[in-house]
Amino acid sequence: MDAARAAWHSLLSAIFPDRCVLCERVGFPPICLYCRQQLVPISPSDQPALPPDGLDLLRIGFHYSGRMQQAITQYKYGRSTALGGTLADLVHQDFTAFELLENLDVIAPVPIHWRRWTARGFNQTEILCSRLPRSIVDHEAISRIRFTPPQASLTLMERRTSLLGAFSSDERLEGRRVLIVDDVYTSGSTVAECAKALRAAGAAWVGAYALASTLRIADP
Ligand SMILES: [Zn+2]
Repeated sequence: MDAARAAWHSLLSAIFPDRCVLCERVGFPPICLYCRQQLVPISPSDQPALPPDGLDLLRIGFHYSGRMQQAITQYKYGRSTALGGTLADLVHQDFTAFELLENLDVIAPVPIHWRRWTARGFNQTEILCSRLPRSIVDHEAISRIRFTPPQASLTLMERRTSLLGAFSSDERLEGRRVLIVDDVYTSGSTVAECAKALRAAGAAWVGAYALASTLRIADP
């Protein structure tokens, strides 16, 4: 970098210093240590003992509250790509902590419909999988064959029915051990419908991982 450009960059960073995208403290992009400490992980011992119907395993990384809720919301709707990298690091750490890569053939990010992709410009779940082994991440393992309204805009009853038949999978998944990856697990409808499509295609084992959840998992 030549001297003029270096001077220009230092001037720019003096006027627009890097900040934590969550609390706006100066100098810690994208998430400062203070905010990281406020993310509440769900430990391996507090995971759901019995997976919901249709799943062989369910693992959740963090409580969907506070700074984690803010991070995911800003990432999805604020288009902070730097934040995407940080969240992808957390996903990668969880895969190690939960030993999710053992005996796994395919990682299947929950797909978004092309209409939503066109509006948003990216699939948030694909980016969350960007630090996982590329050889087993398959972005086409599950296809979205029907456009549906955002789950967050629906009641619990509507969530259960709106996604029926929204996903499909193909014979490439026959006999494979597949882990679905989603950003937020709420009613479980999205993951359940993806699992149905994978089972219909002949998948031998279907688990799911979500970065965060509203479930009160540790409660008795
Ligand atoms: Zn912060």
